[in-house]
Amino acid sequence: MTHTHCPYCSLQCGMTLQKKGRAGLEVLPWAEFPVNEGALCRKGWTAGELRGHRERLTTPMIKDRATGELRAAGWDEALDLVAWKITDLQASYGADSVAVFGGGGLTNEKAYQLGKFARVALRTSQIDYNGRWCMSSAASAGNQAFGVDRGLPFPLADVEQADVVVLVGSNLAETMPPAARHLDRLRERGGKLVVIDPRRTATADRADLFLQPVPGTDLALAQGALHLIDAAGAVDEEYVATRTTGWEPVRRSVAAWWPERVERVTGVATSELRELVDLLATHDKVMILTARGAEQHSQGTATVLGWINVALALGLPGKPHAGYGCLTGQGNGQGGREHGQKADQLPGYRMIDDPAAREHVARVWGVTPESLPGKGVSAYELLDSLGDGGGPRALLVFGSNIVVSAPRATHITQRLESLDLLVVCDMVMSETAALADVVLPITQWAEESGTMTNLEGRVILREQAVEPPKGVRSDLDVIAGLADRLGSPVPFGTDVEEIFAELGRASAGGKADYSGITYDRIRDERGVFWPCPAPSTGSGSEALHPGTPRMFGDGFPTPDGRARFLPVEHAGPAEPTDATYDVHLTTGRVLAQYQSGAQTRRVRSLPDSGPFVEMHPMLAQRIGARDGDPVLVRTRRGEMKAPAKVVTTIRPDTVFVPFHWVGANRLTNDALDPSSRMPEFKVCAAAVTA
Ligand code: SF4
Repeated sequence: MTHTHCPYCSLQCGMTLQKKGRAGLEVLPWAEFPVNEGALCRKGWTAGELRGHRERLTTPMIKDRATGELRAAGWDEALDLVAWKITDLQASYGADSVAVFGGGGLTNEKAYQLGKFARVALRTSQIDYNGRWCMSSAASAGNQAFGVDRGLPFPLADVEQADVVVLVGSNLAETMPPAARHLDRLRERGGKLVVIDPRRTATADRADLFLQPVPGTDLALAQGALHLIDAAGAVDEEYVATRTTGWEPVRRSVAAWWPERVERVTGVATSELRELVDLLATHDKVMILTARGAEQHSQGTATVLGWINVALALGLPGKPHAGYGCLTGQGNGQGGREHGQKADQLPGYRMIDDPAAREHVARVWGVTPESLPGKGVSAYELLDSLGDGGGPRALLVFGSNIVVSAPRATHITQRLESLDLLVVCDMVMSETAALADVVLPITQWAEESGTMTNLEGRVILREQAVEPPKGVRSDLDVIAGLADRLGSPVPFGTDVEEIFAELGRASAGGKADYSGITYDRIRDERGVFWPCPAPSTGSGSEALHPGTPRMFGDGFPTPDGRARFLPVEHAGPAEPTDATYDVHLTTGRVLAQYQSGAQTRRVRSLPDSGPFVEMHPMLAQRIGARDGDPVLVRTRRGEMKAPAKVVTTIRPDTVFVPFHWVGANRLTNDALDPSSRMPEFKVCAAAVTA
């Protein structure tokens, strides 16, 4: 029996694995792990089915360019070919002709090695990852307002002790069901739950107050809430004066957001807005949590800043059982963004254009700072520039299924097809792997060890439970094998504990400091929260840092120790509706599937509904469709056909399409947030016909 964690979302539920038969794996509860207390959702319970799956890849594949068919190959042949092609392309077109695309599901060790591999072995600036499409707007807002980005700056269980919890764009009851127990306990204690969402979801069904705004108008709602908070004299003046800067410009910026204007923009009645503000203004411990619904917009960063402004005006961040937090989505959405996969960052959240950061990391890596490339471009911009876009001619993909998950996916698929070399590491033949010139079969979660950092900033350890199938290798082996063949100036190891120790040294002194965390401590303490610096040498004290479950109690990691109010202005969706495209399209998840579905669509015990178009009966009647009828959704970027799902729980002016299958992202808008570079997945203008 092995204690480990779920292969899917950012809750990283603890689970126990037991071998079953020759190739099977049974999932059992791990009641002592505090985050989920033995509870799992159906995705977690069935995760063992991926082991020994008949579609599992167990041999490298190379595409025959004459026939377009993939054929089986040996590891040496495949890695030699990739290294030769990279060398050839870089000799002709420069180091940046080769790009790397990572994932928010990779372990910390893999994310770290991938960032180092790109900068040291490939010498390319062209690296980014799919986490850019997950919580990057909240990350950008957190860095600007608090000086640091940790999704939740407190343990998730603190939710239970709050007086009021406001969820903005989160369907937590379906995306991470074991976490909903905290909401239930909150309400059992008499606390209030507010849910803000264009759809009345399973989470909204639990709410004491449900607000249903037009997609893309959450910022106007935040502005209106702050306007009323100020008008009611509910601003915590002492907190604002002693712990923040920048209040007056923000106060002026919300002055014109009177309730009637908010109602016109958002569709939320003035009475409902006043009810929300009444709850916020009359309770002490208020917690505001955003998720993708608020963040995946071309104004995602501004929207999160709008809600952070509300939290600061009420004096919440740093107060026990209160504050602002982001509910990160992907399994290692938090750790994946800390260790150097991002185009502009080095490990420990250090910025790649900061000379001191380059000096520190280069020293740990054993190279010179001058040898490290500079800043690259964000995930969508990188993919948009590939091949015939004039940018990199080769792409190495680790832990991502771009064909399903990229916005404006038809266009991005064409960019992938125009590459000279596409290499995909995956455990199944995903839609992206099917396009590749070289497919490398890799280990899955139970077959290897490594750390993850969950949505609370808690670093946990996924322990290996079983041996991988013959012929399969870890991403770390792929990185090491390629680095060696490319003549890397430093070797790349594959021992996860050694890589974690090096990651700790690289992060030391940075905002996400892991240097005091070890595998043994994680095992003993069931996770350690960062920042957790190592005891300083020569200090005379060998006391271990306890880790930091709760942040901001003593100040913020900004130069003056204060949080920053930042003025923002609502601009609305990049693509408003018009006479032709007259409904809002929004996308999201369903309970039984995870992300691009590459794994969960293959688990037979999980229901696979296929894509559908959720719409209100009024819209269905207008277009002449009944429940189950095929309908066509068109946007300026593409179209898809799927059955109508007619429900009264969605706004009549909005349709919802889940993104786990090919289709939804052929429709979505690639307009980017100016700060986070997040595409506008959550709203665009669409036409729907029967
Ligand atoms: Fe896994 Fe997330 Fe479900 Fe927990 S909530 S079992 S981590 S998918």
